[in-house]
Amino acid sequence: MRTLTLFASSALLFTHLLANPQCYVDAYPTLVASGNKDTLVLKNGVTFPYRTNTPKSTWDEKINNSDLETQLSQSYDAGGFDTPPPYLFDPGRLRYQPFFQAVYGKDKKTIEKNLVTIEWPTLKGKTKLQVSKVADVNKKLYAIGQEIAHLPKADRIWAEGAATYCYRVIKDTDRLSMHSYGIAIDLAPNTTQYWKDEAASETAHIGYKNTMPLSIVRIFEKHGFIWGGRWYHYDTMHFEYRPELLASSCKETPK
Ligand SMILES: [Zn+2]
Repeated sequence: MRTLTLFASSALLFTHLLANPQCYVDAYPTLVASGNKDTLVLKNGVTFPYRTNTPKSTWDEKINNSDLETQLSQSYDAGGFDTPPPYLFDPGRLRYQPFFQAVYGKDKKTIEKNLVTIEWPTLKGKTKLQVSKVADVNKKLYAIGQEIAHLPKADRIWAEGAATYCYRVIKDTDRLSMHSYGIAIDLAPNTTQYWKDEAASETAHIGYKNTMPLSIVRIFEKHGFIWGGRWYHYDTMHFEYRPELLASSCKETPK
């Protein structure tokens, strides 16, 4: 019983530390000026409430009414193995869209002004990808491609068929995909795994599957990208730039 109580209080403390507003300041040093438990201030003057009052009890409410605090409420296990994530554990999948719109562009036209082209190595040469230059995401993705090019061929085949920018909503939802901001990439789309191929409802019980090599995943994580294979609602082809989940201030452990 004592162990259980200790575990429960550590878990609470851990959740509190994870939802640290400083994660945003550290993760976006050129874009975020300051943050506290009430407000996040961007360098362009835009401010956001750290917490919104919209209901977040059910899973659907959480995913539709996320805020800056909720975005950090599940800990992203960078460097971990591809073990099946617990039920409804989707670190990074709960997103507060106004933040991404303020950072990468409020609409299609503004976002596209921030896109640049990078070269992505493939087994047969190179391909070109459109990526946002905000926060140097283009430079980070370019560096990732260069590192993947040094992996053995058996791993590299999982980085073929890369696709980045596409202004669209997530399948069967009205939520904007992170591909719409030019900060996400899909790899090996025809041979990877997507939860929706197995279950139609968000709260369904789904079996985990993955074939994306961890050698590729770890290169992305080193450069501030999270992987959809760490979600209960797995999307193993998908990577997106979310440094707030990887910042050192989000890695504190309870003392
Ligand atoms: Zn994707």
